[in-house]
Amino acid sequence: MRHLTTFILCLLLLAIVPTASTWAEGTFTLVLDAGHGGKDPGALGKTGKEKNINLAVVLAVGQLVEQNMKDVKVVYTRKTDVFVELNERAAIANRAKADLFVSIHTNALPGKAQGRGSETYTLGMHRAADNLAVAKRENAAIMLEKDYENRYEGFDPKSAESYIIFEFMQDTYMEQSVKLANHIQKQFRAAGRPDKGVHQAGFLVLRNTSMPSCLIELGYITTTSEEAYLLSQKGVNELAQSIYQAIKNYKATIK
Ligand SMILES: [Zn+2]
Repeated sequence: MRHLTTFILCLLLLAIVPTASTWAEGTFTLVLDAGHGGKDPGALGKTGKEKNINLAVVLAVGQLVEQNMKDVKVVYTRKTDVFVELNERAAIANRAKADLFVSIHTNALPGKAQGRGSETYTLGMHRAADNLAVAKRENAAIMLEKDYENRYEGFDPKSAESYIIFEFMQDTYMEQSVKLANHIQKQFRAAGRPDKGVHQAGFLVLRNTSMPSCLIELGYITTTSEEAYLLSQKGVNELAQSIYQAIKNYKATIK
């Protein structure tokens, strides 16, 4: 009889004690940031707009994470076509006490210049002129914000001198951010994307985040074959799958 009681008690306990995965639910917060939106289209292709590509990939990554990583809570800086200020994107991540911030963008080149492939940035001082050019173009989004001169302490996104602040910046999360960026590029390579590498540059959207973070440039909207890929369902799925897998691999290394 005692055995039976113990057995029933055990069954009851099993029923009420949450499983390990339930315990861990929501313990890791991932912020997905679709660059641009609303009045800010981002870079323009022949028919495509950067803001739409970024959002399509973010939503696809989010869906993969939500379906397959039950212990991860996904927070989006936007899920629709709305304008969100750069500082607010970082603030959303900080308020959520996020563990990881991934900003998704699409590259562009001036004139007839052609580019192919994906690259990932972490916050830091650029070492090459083309990396500075990417940061300048992305940071120019603040010029659509009200009173940006005051709110970004006189930062002029178009002036190279403004970027000197990134030379002396202490980034606590540098090592982890680079680790994440390497995982992302590894997955892009595995998916057959030309590898444009991991770089550093002064991105305002990364500057105020208090967690490991990176900014992905998916591909070149101004190159015809790249634009077609970025606008295709195949392209969106492959890019999202790579980013999802990289986040999963990164997370596995930090536990
Ligand atoms: Zn962008």
